[in-house]
Amino acid sequence: RQEVYRELRKKPSTTRDGVQVDLLMNAGLAVDLPQLAEAGAAGIGLFRTELQFMVASTFPRAEAQEKLYRDVLEAARGKPVTFRTIDIGGDKVLPYFKGAIQEENPALGWRAIRLTLDRPGLLRTQIRALLKASGGRELKLMLPMVTELGEIAQAREIIDREVRHLSRFAHHLPTSLKLGAMLEVPSLLFQLDELMKAVDFVSVGSNDLFQFVMAVDRGNTQLANRFDTLSAPFLRVLKQIADAGARNHTPVTLCGELAGKPISAMALIGLGFRSISMSPASIGPVKAMLTELPLEELKAFFDDNLMAPAQGLPMRALLQAFADDR
Ligand code: PEP
Ligand code: MG
Repeated sequence: RQEVYRELRKKPSTTRDGVQVDLLMNAGLAVDLPQLAEAGAAGIGLFRTELQFMVASTFPRAEAQEKLYRDVLEAARGKPVTFRTIDIGGDKVLPYFKGAIQEENPALGWRAIRLTLDRPGLLRTQIRALLKASGGRELKLMLPMVTELGEIAQAREIIDREVRHLSRFAHHLPTSLKLGAMLEVPSLLFQLDELMKAVDFVSVGSNDLFQFVMAVDRGNTQLANRFDTLSAPFLRVLKQIADAGARNHTPVTLCGELAGKPISAMALIGLGFRSISMSPASIGPVKAMLTELPLEELKAFFDDNLMAPAQGLPMRALLQAFADDR
């Protein structure tokens, strides 16, 4: 298998009928970087910056942050990298963060962009480190757990201030800055067009989005197999997101676990996703599926089944049958 996947790296990342789909990888630490070449990823679709904070025993200094970001961009050799601002809180606790509070519902609590907007010093330091590390290159930045568009505007103000600050001191700035939002909270599903207009790109965090759409704790093993990520309602949600992206010419990608399983990656591509980000080990198996995929047939399959699954069968079973037949 490994041999097959290695051979596949040389092949274009296209469906059998020639439609390009970018297969990106998720990463978070310097040790992940060699995987970029080994897995043959088109770039890093999600760099989880909080991992540096989680493996440290105190807040990483601005210099250490900048060094990591610089190393990542060096290792990427011009391939795109999307940095996510720190996604702490919830289940990702920093023992040394004195401001942390006990919460009854941490997943719904003071986390991610909510926390960093309340502690703007944290966000400013990180953004400055990212801007400096990206001098002369494009910086792609995304915000986790966005709930309201106002949070994007607030983050943008902080970013703009840092850009002004650095340019005043004649720092080498990024050639361009793209700001994206993660779509993880269902409130955004009811303002998709506004969302698409408010950002340069959107990345679906399907782990959290599924958790909140289905009201199922993503870490609860008792419930792990109860609800299906490939059930019709969730697939319809994903289709609406892909459609809104296309309608507004806003690039949409997905970076949750869903992207890493060939059957669900197939579904995502059929629903309109042209860029997905996954763990490096998944790139080979997903590319093997991609190069065999007759996309036009899959689109027709969804036209027929998404709103009214054949014989009332579960979508997963229908998708599996589609894959087996081909
Ligand atoms: C997600 O929620 O799908 C995601 C990619 O973010 P994380 O898994 O880090 O919460
Ligand atoms: Mg998430």
